[in-house]
Amino acid sequence: MSLSDKRYNGEWVRIPNRGNSEINYLIDNVEVARKGKGNFSRLRYSEVYPDSSHVHCEICWMTIANGNSNDIETGGYYANETWVCDQCFHIFIEPEDYMRVVDTFERIPKP
Ligand SMILES: [Zn+2]
Repeated sequence: MSLSDKRYNGEWVRIPNRGNSEINYLIDNVEVARKGKGNFSRLRYSEVYPDSSHVHCEICWMTIANGNSNDIETGGYYANETWVCDQCFHIFIEPEDYMRVVDTFERIPKP
């Protein structure tokens, strides 16, 4: 993503409904997750880990676990040992050109 590195050098964005991210870090994580594009299955966490463990969304770091807290997701998209939350799957994995969505994110000052 050398094009993106130049274009977004040092910029930060607010991921909708999530936290803030340095944009190149975000893109790196999206690219890792997109390696599984085509292999993801929508799963409840309990179908893979029926216990009290947890994982994080590869992209936004949302906690995915079993339970009923508003602070976690109880499922997501899973492929190749990688979990992606529902929102990130729809924003970053499904579209061919996810950078068009990233371009709409609010830019914020470096925290
Ligand atoms: Zn996510």
